[in-house]
Amino acid sequence: MVTESDIIEGLEKDEFTFFYQPKVSLITGKVIGAEALIRWLKPDGQMVMPDEFIPLAEQTRLIREITRHMFPKLISDLLVLLDIDDQMTVSFNASAKDFEDDAFAKMVLDRVNVAQLPYNSLQVELTETVTLDGGEVVRSNILPLSEAGVSLAMDDFGMGYSSLDTLSRWPFKIIKLDKGIIGRMMDSDKSATIVESSVRMAHELGISVVAEGVESNEQYHHLLETGCTKIQGYWISKPLPLDRFIAFVEADIRWSGIPIGLIHMAIMDHVQWRKQLVSEVTKLAVLPKDSPRRTHQTVPPMSCRECRLGLWYHGAGQHFNERKSFQELEKPHCDFHEVGMRLVSMVGNGADLESLTPLLRELSEHSMTVLGKLQALENEGLIDMHSAHEEWIAHSLHPERER
Ligand code: C2E
Ligand code: CA
Ligand code: CA
Repeated sequence: MVTESDIIEGLEKDEFTFFYQPKVSLITGKVIGAEALIRWLKPDGQMVMPDEFIPLAEQTRLIREITRHMFPKLISDLLVLLDIDDQMTVSFNASAKDFEDDAFAKMVLDRVNVAQLPYNSLQVELTETVTLDGGEVVRSNILPLSEAGVSLAMDDFGMGYSSLDTLSRWPFKIIKLDKGIIGRMMDSDKSATIVESSVRMAHELGISVVAEGVESNEQYHHLLETGCTKIQGYWISKPLPLDRFIAFVEADIRWSGIPIGLIHMAIMDHVQWRKQLVSEVTKLAVLPKDSPRRTHQTVPPMSCRECRLGLWYHGAGQHFNERKSFQELEKPHCDFHEVGMRLVSMVGNGADLESLTPLLRELSEHSMTVLGKLQALENEGLIDMHSAHEEWIAHSLHPERER
């Protein structure tokens, strides 16, 4: 059993280090960063895991000593990593006690400044208990970090009681789906639904999702289908000491797979855009011709490059740019927006429902074409993904075939 004085002695002898567990983008298939996880390396070669000393440290105030001791190590490791890949992000775990006064937040900002690191290369993972039990002081010490550009990630999402409430009241940029729920996802429809709706909700809120504890190829493929964009877990790699993590990054492995779930998101985004526009336009069309409300419309982004589908098309969607249905999507999508703009301008000029109806029909027609292309793309992607999956299974059952 680890005692407080063991921990103090370990700190004095500088026996703690960080291991790094890779996170992979499901869009590019590349390593995008890591979570720093503390390890206690005893002189006799024994490795003590955080579960054996972090809970005790959190009950006492020792966690603050640990965090303060470790943070400078994190920064120097991060400097090395950014020299290898300047897009890399590293997250670290913090507890409520770290933020009970402003010393730690100040140290974080200071160190990042001195090292000339971009704030967005650093993320803080907080569990819900930090936000719930922390109170105002903790909040007022955490917020400056987020304002400076350090992203806040909600750890163990799906474990707590009121995650949604906490999400709405704190500026989280990332949620980390708890490994328990990812572990149950393939056997329990309820867990799968929770994963899918969490991914969807985060997408709506502009929050990114990391699924943690991904342990199998099945889970990996399922997450591709849900539209989750980042994963972490033994399936990719266990946490590694810095040198091995660097070697891992340098190996430049690409995880294969098709981010099929993002096509589904694009479908939903497009439908939502259309509904929002049609609902606004028809609401205004029944008002008196000269109503000032007609010119104060609350419409979604009007350009076919700025709506969510457009952002996806010119961003992550480019993954599919060699596919015919993808290429054929751009024109009807821009035509659709062009009709949308005409509708908005007509309603602003006093048009009534009757005169708008032909354009509303035209809008639906373009929308159907857009949806048809997206669905074709989704179907092709599903077929490819499952045949790649079958090949993988055949290969892993008969690995000798390749030798
Ligand atoms: P966590 O923040 O939820 O970290 C994820 C844990 O899941 C890590 O355990 C990681 O090694 C493990 N893990 C990753 N992928 C898989 C997987 O595919 N399957 C399974 N079964 N597990 C996986 P670890 O490193 O033992 O850390 C345990 C906990 O200790 C962390 O949970 C975190 O709450 C805490 N912790 C770790 N490092 C620090 C630290 O530097 N400071 C603080 N305050 N807490 C830390
Ligand atoms: Ca964590
Ligand atoms: Ca976690």
